[in-house]
Amino acid sequence: MRRILAIMIAKITIALVKLMGHRGSNIGGELALRMCSDILAWFGSQVKDKIIFVTGTNGKTSTNNMIYSIIRESGHSCICNRLGANLDSGLISAFINNSSIFGHIDADYACLEVDEASLAKVMVHIKPHIIVFTNIFRDQLDRYSEIDVLLNRIKKSLKTSQDTVLLINADDPSLVSLEASLPHVKYYYGVETAADMGSEDMAKDSVFCKKCGCRLHYDHYYYGQLGHYVCKKCGFKRPIPDFKAFIQDSEEKRKLTVVGKDKNFKVEVDMDINDTYSIYNTLAAVSCAALMKNTPETVLCGLESYRPQVGRMEKFYIGKPITLNLAKNPVGFNESMKIVSQDENSKIIAIGVNDFPQDGCDVSWLWDTNFEILLEVDDTIENYTVFGRRRYDMALRLKYAGVDENKLTVVDTVFDAVDNVLKTKSDVGYILLNYSLLFDTQKILKGRNEDDKTHPVPSVS
Ligand SMILES: [Zn+2]
Repeated sequence: MRRILAIMIAKITIALVKLMGHRGSNIGGELALRMCSDILAWFGSQVKDKIIFVTGTNGKTSTNNMIYSIIRESGHSCICNRLGANLDSGLISAFINNSSIFGHIDADYACLEVDEASLAKVMVHIKPHIIVFTNIFRDQLDRYSEIDVLLNRIKKSLKTSQDTVLLINADDPSLVSLEASLPHVKYYYGVETAADMGSEDMAKDSVFCKKCGCRLHYDHYYYGQLGHYVCKKCGFKRPIPDFKAFIQDSEEKRKLTVVGKDKNFKVEVDMDINDTYSIYNTLAAVSCAALMKNTPETVLCGLESYRPQVGRMEKFYIGKPITLNLAKNPVGFNESMKIVSQDENSKIIAIGVNDFPQDGCDVSWLWDTNFEILLEVDDTIENYTVFGRRRYDMALRLKYAGVDENKLTVVDTVFDAVDNVLKTKSDVGYILLNYSLLFDTQKILKGRNEDDKTHPVPSVS
């Protein structure tokens, strides 16, 4: 009875919040959780076939939504927190949105993005069949603490569910260091290419061997600390992946081929954009789909029907092309700025930084981010606009990076930031921002967009 009451109240609240024009991904779930502490376990127990978790620092939302899209393509029903509300309350909201008023759900699968720091809390209630790990980077240090603390927490929660299959990014030494003490069945995915991904000078958060502390030796760097690594002292090295991604570049196009261990599984995808994180997101999703015994044809159809979420390299046209991208930690920002720096057009770049709990209250990560990347193409950048609650920290960071003060504009509101992007003479505009600024900015851009269609492509989050 308490459960039904909790679900009814949550459903009414979600409807009211939506009526008021807010998204409210968490509030219904929060209320239900307060009234009924085992509600997540109860929902989880109703999923008929498999429950999949996607966790890690970057790439969760995109990877999870691709997996969801493939499951739907295979003809199965699936519950998914598609907008990326990934705390326990967000997961509960996703179930409530798909449940009857009595809390019954009819789903073959649940495909859930789970915040890496909340994994332990969630796994008390739900033991997933598969966990997909994307990567572990430094992110919101005040909440996640250092990588080692986070890895230990993840390890502890995994020990409570030893039947769970782990799908791990072989190119991330931090994640791979988890494996030794874990008895789980593990599969690995990794990128097989000698192509330079341009990450040589970027943030490498974890280049020391987790076993003996020596510096890792890399044959190739791809993204953050991801690459082909080996510890010459103790022998810790990148495992041979079960799922391998091969990359073929031609003019304007990048083709990604994912090959499974049994060579019958092969999927070829044309990538819209030349960025490394989309490769990893796609590789992780395809590998998970292959583990779930989907055919290459189903996987391809699923990827084709996949639509990225708000603010993932989302394109607008308001007098000029404007790209909006969510970036919330050093590696995410570096990857976004890499894309900006590859654009030869004259541009204005606006950077928004907030410090609400969902963004991380500590903004020291600005100093771990390589904003100097922008200086390499400074002659094509007409103006740097900064906004958000921590605009002055951001302005200071850009000054230290070497940005000319005459090109730097500090504005107070999101409206002013968008206005400045529009009125500055340039061929294109980029707006990079962290989480709590995303939806307000997107709303303004959407309202003024001249093209009916926006054309988002996959992103890092
Ligand atoms: Zn070592």
